[in-house]
Amino acid sequence: MKIKLCPKCKSDKIELYAAGITGNYRCRNCDYVGPLILEKEVDERDLKNKDKNTK
Ligand SMILES: [Zn+2]
Repeated sequence: MKIKLCPKCKSDKIELYAAGITGNYRCRNCDYVGPLILEKEVDERDLKNKDKNTK
């Protein structure tokens, strides 16, 4: 699966930001707004491991 990452803070808290301008993304972590976004191919098992590490 693919996840979207913020190019500024590398957070995955990315949402579509369509207020006025279409095709932009917004980061809920650092308030970055722009059309540029990082995409990363991840394994679902990696995500589960990540969850364990953050707890
Ligand atoms: Zn960010």
